[in-house]
Formats: sequence, C-alpha cells, structure tokens
Amino acid sequence: MKPTLIRNAMTVDVEDYFQVSAFASHIPRESWTSISCRVECNIDRILALLDEERAKATFFTLGWVADRYPAMVKRIVANGHELASHGWAHHRVSDQEPHEFRDDVIKSKAILEDIGGQRVLGYRAPSFSIGRNNLWALDVLEEAGYRYSSSIYPIQHDHYGMPDAPRFAHHPRGNNGLLELPITTMRLFKRNFPAGGGGYFRLWPYPVSRWFLQRLNHLEHQSAIFYFHPWEIDHKQPRQKGISVKTRFRHYYNLHRMEERIKALTRDFEWDRMDRIFLE
Ligand SMILES: [Zn+2]
Repeated sequence: MKPTLIRNAMTVDVEDYFQVSAFASHIPRESWTSISCRVECNIDRILALLDEERAKATFFTLGWVADRYPAMVKRIVANGHELASHGWAHHRVSDQEPHEFRDDVIKSKAILEDIGGQRVLGYRAPSFSIGRNNLWALDVLEEAGYRYSSSIYPIQHDHYGMPDAPRFAHHPRGNNGLLELPITTMRLFKRNFPAGGGGYFRLWPYPVSRWFLQRLNHLEHQSAIFYFHPWEIDHKQPRQKGISVKTRFRHYYNLHRMEERIKALTRDFEWDRMDRIFLE
C-alpha cells in the first residue's frame, strides 16, 4: 500500500546518453546526427513502467530530440503526461547570452507545442545552469510564456547549484514572477543533500532514498520533485572513451539497478505531473 496521499512530481529529462554536459568536450554537437539514438526505446520503457503503476510525470524534452522523434513526443502526451522544455540542444544557460537563451527557449517551446498539441508551461535548464549569476534567465522564461522553472538546485556541487536558494516552491523574482520548483533536497547537519534523483539516486542504497522522501512527505509535508534520464535505465549504452574517472563513475554507476529502483519508487509513492501539483 502507498503510505501517503501527498502527490510527488516525477520528472524525466528527455535527452540521449551522448548529449549530457559531461561528454560535451568529447562529443561535439555537430556529430550528434551521426550517432544512433537510444532515447526512443528508453522512453517507451519508461512510459510502460509509469503506466503499470498509473503514475503521471512531466517530460522535460530537448527540442533537438522532439524534432527527430515527433511520434515519441505524441506518445508521451497520449499517455497523459505533461510535456515541458529542456532547451533545444542542451546548451547550459550559463554559457548563453540573454538573446541566445531567449531564442532557445522560444524555439523549443514552439516545437513541443506544435507536436504535442498542448501548452508548454515548464522549463528545466540543462545541468541546472540557472543560479545566482544569471537569474535574469527567469525573466526571459516568463516573457516567453513559461509559468515555472525547475532549474535552480539548492546544493553545493562542482558544476552547478545555489546552496542558499530555497528548498521548496518559490518566486525568486518577486511575487508575480516565475515560479521556481527545485529538485528535492534533504536538510541534514545544516547542509542540503540531493534527494531527488540523478546520480545520487543511483549512489545511495534505495532504502535511503525512500527514507528521504518519506521524511519530506510526512515531517515537512512537502511534495518531492524527482528526476531521472532515459539513458539511466540503459546499461547497454555504448561506453564513452577518454573521460575522467569521476565522469565515468557519475555516468555509469549502478545503471543496471536503475529501472528496478524507479519501479520501487512508483510503487512506494504517489506521482503526478508538475503542472497538476504546483499550478492548480
Ligand atoms: Zn539534461
């Protein structure tokens, strides 16, 4: 039996294994079209898995992926999930000028709305690349018609994060500004620990992750925001050569356990779309 009625937000960042920021210096964007994609098969497995537990989710999808797999995007929508934007080609926001970022989020929103036939209200920055130095990006998102972002990660990390940002839904640009919905963290020993997915979910034993989320639901009375990637359930993906030991560990550790863990999560908690939990 699912122990709580609190609905949590399940989210998927729809990108392929070769598009992650950690591989960017090894796999140039120009070569993406010559690599065979695995994202469609992996998304179909995720759709089946979510369906089995009647869980709904939000899919933050790259414009680049939507452009090549429109039928997959339509299947996401047909299964009752929310479509949201992850930008066009996984450029970090922190590497873009405001006008480049504006073009990127307008273009990715347009293609997703065109294919999916529903309004796109949410955006997640590639590699959580919105923080203290580029909060202007939230104003650009709002002008472009987005209603929420899930891009500021309130943790200390070598590549991203804004450790002193609020842990729960808030309006970083004032009360009428865009709503920011951060990935779930756990506050322990005066520090925020990542508790909402990604590599950390593969690192901690599953009962630890479950305990984090139970604590969040029951003691803090908050909805969790959890994320993972289609390539994380794909332990047969081609192995990238020439990457550092740290990158290899972060990308490949426990991939073979991931699908089973996501299944356990969908059984142990209630899951729904971001827009239904936070905008209604
Ligand atoms: Zn991403």
